[in-house]
Amino acid sequence: MAKTHEYEVVIIGAGPAGMTAGMYAGRAMLRAVVLERGAPGGELLNTEIIEDYPGFEHIEGWDLAQKFDAHARKFGAEVHTATVERVRKVEDGWFETVTDAGDTYRSPTVILTAGGTPVKLGVPGELEYAGKGVSYCAICDGAFFKGHRIAVVGGGDAAVEEADFLTRYAEKVYLVHRRDQLRASKILQKRVFENPKIEIIWNTVVDRVEGDAQGLVKALHLRDVVTDTTSVLAATGLFVFIGFRPNTGIVEGHVRHDEGGYLVTDSNMETSMRGLFAAGDVRAQLARQVTTAVGDATTAAIAAEKYLTALKNGQYDPQLLSSGGYAV
Ligand code: NAP
Repeated sequence: MAKTHEYEVVIIGAGPAGMTAGMYAGRAMLRAVVLERGAPGGELLNTEIIEDYPGFEHIEGWDLAQKFDAHARKFGAEVHTATVERVRKVEDGWFETVTDAGDTYRSPTVILTAGGTPVKLGVPGELEYAGKGVSYCAICDGAFFKGHRIAVVGGGDAAVEEADFLTRYAEKVYLVHRRDQLRASKILQKRVFENPKIEIIWNTVVDRVEGDAQGLVKALHLRDVVTDTTSVLAATGLFVFIGFRPNTGIVEGHVRHDEGGYLVTDSNMETSMRGLFAAGDVRAQLARQVTTAVGDATTAAIAAEKYLTALKNGQYDPQLLSSGGYAV
């Protein structure tokens, strides 16, 4: 039967930002819950090795996720497995967060840390062969491609890092990129340039994914965007890493966002909807790293606590917020 819960803070998503917000809310003795549809960890679960989280020169994404989870729970964060369908602000100024099971979480504040969803290429065959050769997660699916010849699409950090990772299994990895320069950070680029199992196919896009009689990927139809010549690449796997879309669609009503759909916040991580905070990959910002997610979430949880205190004391003044005078 559908239930209604009441919390002071509802945190949506249990990636690095969500677990950090949960930890800080727990330490502030707030009644807080983290709602997560899958295993805690978010994008950490799609990242093989993390080398840029201070204090850990080299740690597997999965391990770091476990540590975040344990740490947040130690300080009292409650984590519920639930898929959030919508969040809306109701007449009394509280938020109602509704799950696919029909449960409602009522709270005066929400911290949205729902991350993003991989962008799709949008070419014929891509969705048809998803899970049958087409993948968006190297760490989840890489081992299925032992000894295969596969392709990775993209030129950012994710594509370059995962192409390198996939050479553990694949005999050959083609990195297909639509330009003649990679966007990825130089240190990651160096790894692919030095990896003999990786061949970069420049200025090229995938036009179509072709399958075999068993319904598995067998080839990719490529097009050189400079010469407009087409070719067929024999490959049994296609890993797509062409960016993320922020998971902000669950929020009803208008919230200020940038052209990519990322939520714009003030320096307290508060969005244009009062009481709704955003942290991590859903937020408009220069860098989307584990370190920035954790920093955002720390600020968001502390700001949410101040907001709750001001509300309780009847001191909250929305005018001050818009003029930058309220704890900004
Ligand atoms: P990204 O940096 O936005 O890169 C997306 C790549 O996909 C770009 O090279 C882009 O090409 C290409 N692309 C976009 N649309 C395409 C299309 N329709 N067809 C073909 N190619 C397309 O995304 P990301 O690599 O997922 O990274 C997202 C964020 O996470 C970044 O801030 C990144 O630094 C961070 N990240 C960091 C690490 C790390 O530090 N270890 C690992 C993963 C991700 P153009 O270059 O031509 O635009």
